Amino acid sequence: MTYVEKVLKNLKEQNPDEPEFYQAATEILTTLEPVLEKHPEYENQSLLERFVEPERVIMFRVPWVDDKGKVRVNKGYRVQFNSAIGPYKGGLRFHPSVNLSIIKFLGLEQILKNSLTGLPIGGGKGGSNFDPKGKSDREIMAFCQSFMTELFRHIGADTDVPAGDIGVGAREIGYLFGQYKRIRDEHVGVLTGRGLSYGGSLARKEATGFGLVYITEEALKTRGDSFNGKTVVISGSGNVAIYACQKAQSLGAKVVAMYDSNGYVYDPDGIKLDIIKDIKEVKRGRIKEYVDRVKGATYTEGCSGIWTVPCDIALPCATQNEIDEKSAEILVKNGVKYVAEGANMPSTLEAIKVFQDSGVVFLPAKAANAGGVATSALEMAQSSGRLFWSFEEVDAKLKNIMINIYHNIEMAAKNYGYDGNYVMGANIAGFIKVADAMMAHGIV
Ligand code: NDP
Repeated sequence: MTYVEKVLKNLKEQNPDEPEFYQAATEILTTLEPVLEKHPEYENQSLLERFVEPERVIMFRVPWVDDKGKVRVNKGYRVQFNSAIGPYKGGLRFHPSVNLSIIKFLGLEQILKNSLTGLPIGGGKGGSNFDPKGKSDREIMAFCQSFMTELFRHIGADTDVPAGDIGVGAREIGYLFGQYKRIRDEHVGVLTGRGLSYGGSLARKEATGFGLVYITEEALKTRGDSFNGKTVVISGSGNVAIYACQKAQSLGAKVVAMYDSNGYVYDPDGIKLDIIKDIKEVKRGRIKEYVDRVKGATYTEGCSGIWTVPCDIALPCATQNEIDEKSAEILVKNGVKYVAEGANMPSTLEAIKVFQDSGVVFLPAKAANAGGVATSALEMAQSSGRLFWSFEEVDAKLKNIMINIYHNIEMAAKNYGYDGNYVMGANIAGFIKVADAMMAHGIV
């Protein structure tokens, strides 16, 4: 049994109810074999065992009162996974599916993603099984205030800096920050994704989607190609999906399909993004309303059918495991050439294998969606320097970071004999920096 196999076996035995965490750990650890061969000292120092064990897991009760006066109780989580290269950094997810397994998988991924940005940020993640859908603003505020009333004692501008994720946007970050400031009496950069009037950064809202398109554009460019004239399918219609669509369209692509958690819209003439924004960002409505407003567009109930829409480029931007083996096979059969992950772990391990075996250029989440957290780190830099950069300045830095990530993961893959395998490249490049720092810190 190899070192990796031993660690994974132990991980499964000790965390039997955490399938998503085990899936992410398997995806990462199995690609690190060549690094471990070069560095036997890692096994001697039980580095992998330490790497997969969070430094700290905080779980707490979140009581709040709904509009009918009923007391509700949710679970709150913050997993402070690894602070070897900087303070913990990673989003908060509010969604009924949230559990410890999902937060740990996201936290583990976040360690390597943050490392790939080249910026000094460690990995963490948090959230709650609270469902913001259908709640009034007052209920959201009550929940956020209660959540922060526990979380505040564990976070800080140099300790742990949470941000948004699924279900946590500008409104939620505002309420969370307001409560932190009230309890601590400190106006500091303790959360990112803040509003522009209270310490936020320009271009943070757009960053993950724009970054996804920048890294894909670089992959296209190195192959003498571009977004211009390409047919693109994007899953989701949230923060990442909307700004990926905006940037892809601005580069001449035709985005023909998007979805929300109920179903997908197909518009052969190209999605009208202003209508999607109005439905999802302004009215917080359902995507099926699109077909009432756009002639020639169709709506199909259920999500997975979106991958039957033929495209050159697929950008999954909704949630984990949305592309399984069967969907991957259909995408390949229909001629997809590039798949870049905007969401975290949207492709199953089997789907990734299908893409790689078929010669599809596959850019994994930890590289492809790192633009969000990278821009969060730029927000932290502006906060501590009491600075405010222009949109163009932040956007240029973001683009540069994404281009660097692309070349770093390409180089790492090549150096270890896996040319073109960006899963290997991203895991190896991200891991080496964290492993170096952990070794330097001794047994901690
Ligand atoms: P949002 O909440 O803004 O949007 C999520 C979108 O995905 C919505 O359209 C939602 O549909 C849909 N969705 C959520 N869960 C499911 C599901 N189980 N099945 C089908 N559709 C679903 O989230 P974000 O855009 O911020 O995040 C999307 C993904 O990107 C996540 O994986 C997140 O971890 C990742 N990510 C986000 C970053 C960011 O900066 N925001 C940074 C890096 C990664 P509905 O409207 O019906 O809820």
